[in-house]
Amino acid sequence: MARYTNAVCRLCRREGQKLFLKGDRCYTGKCSVAKRTYAPGQHGQGRKKISEYGLQLRAKQKTKRYYGVLEGQFRHYYELAEKVKEGKTGENLLAILESRLDNVIYRLGWAGSRAEARQLVVHGHFLINGKRVDIPSYLTRVGEELSICEKSRSSNKFKNVLESNASRPVPKWLEKSAEATEAKVSGVPAREDIDLEVEETLIVELYSK
Ligand code: SF4
Repeated sequence: MARYTNAVCRLCRREGQKLFLKGDRCYTGKCSVAKRTYAPGQHGQGRKKISEYGLQLRAKQKTKRYYGVLEGQFRHYYELAEKVKEGKTGENLLAILESRLDNVIYRLGWAGSRAEARQLVVHGHFLINGKRVDIPSYLTRVGEELSICEKSRSSNKFKNVLESNASRPVPKWLEKSAEATEAKVSGVPAREDIDLEVEETLIVELYSK
């Protein structure tokens, strides 16, 4: 499957905000967005008037990059969000993206970034309701219980990851055990629980054309 393989900090600079793609570095003064506030590339510092379509496109690209999702998959989530009978399509789209297993693992502080979470999921380090799940795009549901595999918990890698992410706040729709190795999906993510700065209505406008 095609994946973006260039320097990921360029993506944040392109969107003009932190997308938290690199783990610990994103929380330090080494973050490229803080150092260089203009877009990458030869014309990055030029003044540009952005069209309505441009704004819609940027909102979609930013959201896709934040969650590390490719175009086809993103479109699929949009179609799922459109079918939800309650709520607004844009908010439902974000709630679906938040419920992806790789994002949940990241939100729980069991990985430093969504990319790392994806890798750990693929390597089979997590259980859902006692069964191993190794699909990063798995959509978690309310009531499901997640845990780190018994064997993985005692590894130095996990001890370090848990320690370095211990202070990261966990959203209120997730409950983490005191030992931080088990958790439960206790609700559906509401818009105010999602810290991505994006006008999701722009994505709806883009796809509604
Ligand atoms: Fe983005 Fe993190 Fe790089 Fe900063 S350090 S530009 S937040 S990926």
